[in-house]
Order: sequence, then structure tokens, then C-alpha cells
Amino acid sequence: MVAELGRGTLLLRALPEKATSLMPVLRPVLGDQLSVKLASLRGIQNGDVVVMAEMPQETSYVRHHKQKILLTFAAMRHFAKSLAESGHTVKYYRYDQDPPHDYASMITRARQETGLTSAIATEPGEYRLLAAMQKLDDIDLHILEDDRFITSRSAFAAWAKDRKQLRMEFFYRDLRKQTGLLMDGDQPHGGQWNFDSENRKKLPANLHPPQRPIFDYGADFEDLRQFVDTTFADHFGSTAHFFWPITAEQAQQALDFFLDHCLNNFGTYQDAMALGEVTLFHSLISTALNMGLLDPLAVCQAAEAHLQRGAAPINAVEGFIRQILGWREFIRGIYWLKMPDYEALNALDHEAPLPSFYYSGKTDMACLREAITATRDYAYAHHIQRLMITGNFALLAGLSPTAVNQWYLEVYADAYQWVELPNTHGMALFADGGIVGSKPYAASGAYINRMSNYCADCKYNVKDKLGEAACPFNYLYWDFIMRHETQLAGNPRMALVYKNLNKMPHNQKSEIARQAEYFLSSLDRIGPRP
Ligand code: FAD
Ligand code: SF4
Repeated sequence: MVAELGRGTLLLRALPEKATSLMPVLRPVLGDQLSVKLASLRGIQNGDVVVMAEMPQETSYVRHHKQKILLTFAAMRHFAKSLAESGHTVKYYRYDQDPPHDYASMITRARQETGLTSAIATEPGEYRLLAAMQKLDDIDLHILEDDRFITSRSAFAAWAKDRKQLRMEFFYRDLRKQTGLLMDGDQPHGGQWNFDSENRKKLPANLHPPQRPIFDYGADFEDLRQFVDTTFADHFGSTAHFFWPITAEQAQQALDFFLDHCLNNFGTYQDAMALGEVTLFHSLISTALNMGLLDPLAVCQAAEAHLQRGAAPINAVEGFIRQILGWREFIRGIYWLKMPDYEALNALDHEAPLPSFYYSGKTDMACLREAITATRDYAYAHHIQRLMITGNFALLAGLSPTAVNQWYLEVYADAYQWVELPNTHGMALFADGGIVGSKPYAASGAYINRMSNYCADCKYNVKDKLGEAACPFNYLYWDFIMRHETQLAGNPRMALVYKNLNKMPHNQKSEIARQAEYFLSSLDRIGPRP
């Protein structure tokens, strides 16, 4: 029997009496639930068995980047070891030792091997897994709310109820008031809620972002790396430049390093992109947050403490806190509010398959080459690369949201559907028709040139609008605007764009459409990935 979950809203906060009795239970823990304060690990008693498995289903429902698999297995093994060292009984199934294929078989196997007939779990981050858990009928399973977020799912649903539009900025302001973060009484610290207008500078040539700390991953890590490289050889990417924290201690070191050496410049250069610069002044803590190695509220409070000490300016600290308190919480709220129908939306009717350069990185467009190469080597690209380079191209080129979502889920170490989907489907592709963003994030080469030095290294000329040497983003942008005039011209935020389109001579419009079609039809495409 499974505790009632309905369409993902009714979760148990308090355990039923029989679950808190002395009867031992299984406590399954997933690869993104590596927190000692996890709801389902609280109150763990003698006789309870923690169950963890490196499940083939989880590595193959999409073919994750090798670094994502390496990170997950390494972090899970460390977490299991530390639980065992604290005196808990842990049943751990390794990938190389005939593990259970999926969640259901993990529970069945653990039940058979321990004789325990009840389990207490924390709700998973993905709808797919929740559905699998809801189907279990051979165990008495109690699913607890995942309270490692600043807002609960029910609080988000209450905030969203009766609102015509869901906008991150208003949600964020409410959360600032609720948490007291960056507040002076009931007023925003610094006199304004948002300092984004100060956060759009290009990286100066003489400013060099710091090298990140190198972690000691322990004796067994190289064996695991080799195992992953061999077993998942056909997955995207390389493990050679792996730099992720794999324990809570390392995650804290990564955060401290960011606060001490990067936060200062985080805001000003938040949207900047530069050749050969992968990490710039970003925090690189998304994997640690998503896996449970860091607590989001504690991270925000630590950043605020830097502001209070005068160690970082308000535009940096507010910008950073907004990403976590605002965007991360908002995105999760949208996911659970709108799933499962959300992922099937395709508001712009885009159907084109992915160009093969999304995997090979082989393209003459320097901006895409840089973003995809970083993704291959580091399982990382920062937000503006994801949104305004690979995402923007996918939007302008009319790529299928399903194919693009699959790509984003495959290629980043921090990718989990609850956070990947609204960002890709909503923010980057506008496939949700405006649930996440009020207008498409479509941009021509001028934006990329303003925020980066990529164009100087490109075969194409960013200043040319048409012709063989013209930057493809330029004519693809206007082609996109023309193709979607019916859907977008009525959007007040697109009024200026359509005013400019209306002034464009007819023959120029035809030439844009012709060149866009020729360019897109000459791209080498790949079929759907298994
Ligand atoms: P920083 O720039 O240092 O930001 C600090 C933290 O803020 C991040 O660690 C992250 O936890 C949070 N954050 C920032 N922006 C967002 C956002 N839009 N949504 C949610 N959290 C945010 N993030 C993921 O964690 N997993 C994903 O699968 C993912 N897919 C994305 C797909 C697309 C198309 C886009 C545009 C963005 C995606 N993001 C995703 C959001 C964001 O790009 C990453 O969180 C960020 O780049 C991680 O790097 P960082 O830790 O250095 O972040
Ligand atoms: Fe990208 Fe165009 Fe600049 Fe080349 S010229 S880097 S394609 S924006």
C-alpha cells in the first residue's frame, strides 16, 4: 500500500503511528537525496535499513554525461559509507554487482533480503520516479515531503492560485519578506529589489577568474572513473576534467571558495561569456545543491553575511541570492504545479531534429562551439551559455522541445528534470507559451557580441545581416520573428520588435527567409536518441 499522493500534492508531513512504532523499516535514499537531514532519515532507529542502489534505469532513461554518473556514484558511495560509520545499517547495491534495475526492483529485493515490509521514503525530485513509487503495491510505503527547499510545494501552489500570470520577480519578493533575506524591516536592502541592470558587463581582457580548488576524491575514485569511462563509453562527454565536490565537506569548501574569491565579481559579470573561460565567477554549486550536499537557505544566508561584512557588493549578493531564492524555488514550484502535462506543451509547434554539432561541437559558429565544448569537457556551461547560446539557437532554429529537453538532461552534471524542464521548455524554448517567461529569450548576434568576445574568433561576421559571411543568429532571429508573428505580435513586450519588422522592406524579409531556410536545411541532423 502507498500513502495517498494524488496528483502530486498530498504528502505526509507526520508519519502514521504504525510507522513511528518500533517496527524496523526500510529507508530508501536516492542519488539526489544525500542529506543527513533528509526527512526520511530523521528518526532512524536500530533495526532500520537504509537502501541505496546504482540503478541502471537511472543512468539510461537518458544517456547522462559520464561526469554526472561518476559524480552520482562517487557521492552516493561516500554518503553510504558515512552513514555506516555513524552506526546505521546500509544496504548498498553497486552498479558492477548486479544491482536492481529500477526503484521497484530495489524495494522488492531489499524487502526479500531483509524481511522488512514497511518503508519510509522522501518524495523524489522527478515526476517519473514519483509515478513509479505510487505504483508499488508489495510494500507499505510512506512518502514524506522533501523539505530541503525554502518553499514547500503546497505553499507555491497557494501563491500561484488565482494569479493570472506567475512571475518569478513577485514570488521572489514575497520570499525575501518571508525569509528576511536582504530586508531592512519591510523594505529591500539597498532600496531596490533587483540590481540586474548593474549585472550585464562584458569580461575585461585583463580580469582573470580564479582557478577552482582541486578536491581529494579518495583512493577508489580512479577505479570508479575507469569503470564509468568503460561502461558508459557511448555516453556524451569526458571525465578528464571532473571538478565537482562529492561530499558535504567538499561542497562547503566549494561554496567558501566562491564566497571568498568570486562573489565580489559574480553580479557584474554574471551574463558575460569569454573564449576559454568556462566558470568565470559562477559558484559551481548547482550539483551540490541538487544532490543535497548544500542547503539552499544556508547558502543564501552565507552570501548575505558577506554583504554585511562589507566583503561583497549588493549587486553581487542580491544577484546570487535571486538565483537560488528566486529562480531555483520558482522553477521547482512550476514543475510540480504543471506536471505531467507540462512536458508535452509545444506552443510554437517546433519539430526540427537536433543538429549533430550539439554532440560533436563541430560548427563554424564560435559561440556554439565554445558552449558545447565546455559542456562536453566539464558537464557544465553557465546560465547565459545555456540560455542565450544553445537555448537561443534551438529556439530560433525551431528545434523540437522534446529533443532539446533530452539533450539538456543528458549533458549537464546538475541536470534533474524538475529544474531542467522549466528552464529549457519554458525559459529557453517558450514551448510552454509563457508560463515561465513573459516573452521568448530570442536574440540576434548583437547580444552575443555585446556579452562576449566570441565573435572575434568566428568564421561569420556579426555585423552582417545577410550574405554568405553573415552571422546565422542575425537572419535566424528575424526569420523566427516573422514565422511566429501570429503568436507573438500581440505580446506587449514584443511590440517594438514587430514595429521594426513592419518597417523592413519586403525584399529584405524574403531574403532573410530564404537564407534561413537554406542554412537550416544544410545542417547535418541526428535522429532521436534512444
Ligand atoms: P550560478 O550562476 O553560480 O548560480 C547560483 C545558483 O543559482 C545555481 O547553482 C543554481 O542552483 C541556482 N540557479 C541559477 N539560475 C537558476 C535557474 N534558472 N533555475 C534554477 N536554479 C538556478 N540548473 C540546474 O541546476 N539543473 C539543470 O538541469 C539546469 N538546466 C538548465 C537549462 C537551461 C536551458 C537553462 C537556461 C538553465 C538551466 N539551469 C539548470 C539553471 C542554471 O543555468 C544553472 O543552475 C547554473 O548554470 C548552474 O551553475 P552555477 O552553480 O555555477 O550557478
Ligand atoms: Fe556566434 Fe554569430 Fe558571433 Fe559567430 S558571429 S560567434 S555565430 S554570434
